[in-house]
Amino acid sequence: MDERKSQKDKKKQFYIILASVLLLIAIAILVVILVMQTNTKKDTELSYTDLIKQIEEGNVEKVEMTAGSTTAKIKLKDIEEEKTTLIPSTQAFIELIQEKSLEGNHIDFTQKPQNVFVKISGTLFSLLPTILLVILFILLIKLQGLGDKGKVYDAETTKSKIKFDDVAGLEEEKQEMIEIVDFLKEPKKFYEMGAKIPRGVLLCGQPGTGKTLIAKAIAGEANVPFISMSGSEFIEMFAGLGASRVRKLFEKAKKISPCIVFIDEIDAIGSRRTSGSGAETENNQTLNQLLVEMDGFDTEETIIVLAATNRPEMLDKALLRPGRFDRQITIALPDLRGREEILKIHAKDKKFAPNIDMKDIAGDTAGFTGAELANILNEAAIIATIKEHEEITKNDIEDAVKKVTVGLEKQSRVISEKDKRLTAFHEAGHAIVSSTLQTQKDIKEVSIIPRGVAGGYTMYKTNEDKYYISKTEMQEKLIALLGGRAAEKVVLNDISTGASNDIEVATQIAKNMVIKYGMSDTLGPVFIDTEKDPYELQLLGEKFGDAIGAEVKIMLDNAYAQAQNILRNNMDKLNKVASVLMEKEVISAEEFQELIK
Ligand code: ADP
Ligand code: ZN
Repeated sequence: MDERKSQKDKKKQFYIILASVLLLIAIAILVVILVMQTNTKKDTELSYTDLIKQIEEGNVEKVEMTAGSTTAKIKLKDIEEEKTTLIPSTQAFIELIQEKSLEGNHIDFTQKPQNVFVKISGTLFSLLPTILLVILFILLIKLQGLGDKGKVYDAETTKSKIKFDDVAGLEEEKQEMIEIVDFLKEPKKFYEMGAKIPRGVLLCGQPGTGKTLIAKAIAGEANVPFISMSGSEFIEMFAGLGASRVRKLFEKAKKISPCIVFIDEIDAIGSRRTSGSGAETENNQTLNQLLVEMDGFDTEETIIVLAATNRPEMLDKALLRPGRFDRQITIALPDLRGREEILKIHAKDKKFAPNIDMKDIAGDTAGFTGAELANILNEAAIIATIKEHEEITKNDIEDAVKKVTVGLEKQSRVISEKDKRLTAFHEAGHAIVSSTLQTQKDIKEVSIIPRGVAGGYTMYKTNEDKYYISKTEMQEKLIALLGGRAAEKVVLNDISTGASNDIEVATQIAKNMVIKYGMSDTLGPVFIDTEKDPYELQLLGEKFGDAIGAEVKIMLDNAYAQAQNILRNNMDKLNKVASVLMEKEVISAEEFQELIK
């Protein structure tokens, strides 16, 4: 997606440069032609009436013409220099000369055959500016994204080679899709039975969970073309363009049906319609066109529209009506087994050390998407290559996991002793506080080596898949998150910007506890989605909003106070862990347990 965008940008740049060059050439040629014309219009020119007069008076010695040309070269009797005259009617002129010659007034008349090459190049040269301007115009149209057959080219059509076997896990989802595959293969069978197959299927799920992959697999299994386009590509500045693109997309689909049409990020066009102006109206037109197209399928057309979104709740309800996207499939994050299977698929073409079990990696990567898992194995292969290992080792994989989660190790960054001390106490703070909390104590690694934007990190083991998180766990998570800031306060009696991400995450959790999970005692079980509807809070009243703010603040303040308490009671451990961190930079789980025994 991003790649396609940057390619488009490059194309745009190329067109702009080409257009400017062409414009310059066109201007240059025009200038040359003008200069040449003014140059020739000097006193060498003889007007036609003057020429007739000179002929009548017998002053003309020689006339030379070229076939197909209207200019004649004239040699007068007493003037050395030849003159040129524009002849309005060559036929009449030739007759006149013959007449004069018959009268005894001899004029030497020659008519040269036409020089084809000169003629063609001459006309070409004078036409060149026009041609260039036409090309320029076409380029401009292209630049605006107009014409170009509504950019159907953007809708990539491919024969997908991906099969269901390439999609790991997602067994139920695949099962649901099998009927669509059968329908695409043998639509007649279904029609004859009077069965109705869903025309639109909405795939909901986070980016990277495999929505595009499964859509391609359906096309691959049914052996039909796969046309894809992203919702954001329909959004254009020009009114009506989005709508026309939708129309062209479906025109194309109808031509090559049976086929799969895949619309990624459908929320970009399918968000709830509003009565706004500008971009929104344009958006509405595009959405309306999509609805028209989906309603307008003939029974013979075998087109299945699959659309992907991460925010189904944002979609216009009209899209979800029967005959449109009336089937929704939610693609969740892969569970332990799913992750193992995804890893196995992406491990196929890579060399691993024999002691590596995909199950272990799956255990360490709870919450990862399929795309992230694929990315980890690829990164591991890159790391192993750079380190010149024979095969991918456990360490390579661990490095890859860290690279994908916390960011790249910044070995080049020079850290002052003061910063190092601050980071050491901050991370030791997280670790010590966590070790006292029942739900947070599974620490995997503590490090003060900078990675990505983080100055250091405390990593937790995640080998359990949980569908529910309890209130206690969330409260303890807040305390652990604020443990870093608390250590700075307790030990250094000053606080730093290093805790900003911790605080951001903690605030988000506290907010969700109050307005999403109904975990606040004062407000009770209540759900407020400010993202979906910014006016919902206004509806509930100012007092309600104030109460939410107060609850979030109490939760965070309590967690912060508790973290400081824990540290004050464990100062010896805190100092010990921090000093070992300053010395060794990384502490493993076992070393940490040893230190705090
Ligand atoms: P989405 O469309 O949901 O954003 P994609 O389908 O583009 O996600 O997934 C990106 C990549 O992640 C895929 O090309 C594939 O390599 C990997 N991937 C995601 N889910 C799976 C899965 N279930 N099985 C195998 N690979 C997967
Ligand atoms: Zn921190």
